[in-house]
Amino acid sequence: MLSNIKGQERAINILKNIISSEKIAQSYLFYGLSGIGKLTTAFEFAKAVNCSNQKNYDCCDNCSSCHKIDHFSHPDIHFVFPTPKYEISADGEYKKEKDQLQVQNFIEQMKFTPYLRYQFSKATSIQIDTIRNLERKICFKPNEGKYRIIIIVEADKMTRGAANAFLKTLEEPPNYAIIILTTTKFSALLPTIISRCQKIKFNSVSSEIIENHLIKNYNVDKIQAKIISRISNGNVAKAISMSQTEIAEARDIALDFINFIIEKDFEGINDFSDNFRQNRNEDLLKEILDFIILWFGDLIYLIYNSEKIVNIDQKDNLMKFYQKTELSEKNIREIIDLIEKAKHLISGHINFELIAIDTFFQIYKRVYQNQKR
Ligand SMILES: [Zn+2]
Repeated sequence: MLSNIKGQERAINILKNIISSEKIAQSYLFYGLSGIGKLTTAFEFAKAVNCSNQKNYDCCDNCSSCHKIDHFSHPDIHFVFPTPKYEISADGEYKKEKDQLQVQNFIEQMKFTPYLRYQFSKATSIQIDTIRNLERKICFKPNEGKYRIIIIVEADKMTRGAANAFLKTLEEPPNYAIIILTTTKFSALLPTIISRCQKIKFNSVSSEIIENHLIKNYNVDKIQAKIISRISNGNVAKAISMSQTEIAEARDIALDFINFIIEKDFEGINDFSDNFRQNRNEDLLKEILDFIILWFGDLIYLIYNSEKIVNIDQKDNLMKFYQKTELSEKNIREIIDLIEKAKHLISGHINFELIAIDTFFQIYKRVYQNQKR
């Protein structure tokens, strides 16, 4: 249901008003950061407008139309997403079985773990053949529902040819059609596409909402939920996927590092860093850096507003760290800056482990640089 989507009240209200006024536009553009509910909202909106038991301008989640949309089997809902370049026949069938299988895997993942995205083995885009195929489909009146709905996720990934072909579809869609585009990269879309859509902005979701969502719906314990909600930076999908995997590893490693700093154990930092020369895991390293950032953020809270500390199970250690290092707020902010920059550098860099190792040493140096002894 639209009403169940958390943290997007503004967008949801706009959509419900659209339904209540019966002034449904032919094309919408949902834009905003990734993982905040654009695609979920697109599907719930599709359910609401086609629901045979609509209540309060929302879907019922129970009728056959709602069920079919939930299971990606509604004949009037077409879902388009970027894929590797596949050969498609004129009637939209995949020519190779393994291509068909990958697409099915993508949809299965969407059904059961929508917060994860199926990773295709090759670079993806939305091809001109796919758009032409849509053009054909949109000519047919809906079979079962009131509307034929096309949802195009990551619309910015249309190839140039696809985007140009799509413009024609956008020009005069039939009045039973609703086209919903989603994108995280608003400015990567053709201006002519943007101007033809009603634009609806999605905001990043507050960490309090994410925290409660994890506790209520994903059985995450309180401390874990608090930590994950801060690290996920308003990205609900990332938060849920983190809560389903073992974040403890990265956090434990980060806390080891922090303990070496507290003990002023340079040898320890040396051994700690050496481990990463062999262990090339970019995601893990980034998570570790995220946890270290969180730690330094907590130090600032410790000074000004201890209520907001995220690592609430580490209060004693935070105090110990603070007393031992005597860092000022300015020092702390500089260190956080340094780690943020390293995180950016790491992305896709061949020698990411060296950047991380260098960062560990830099942090250690910065922490103690202002102390005599
Ligand atoms: Zn329904």
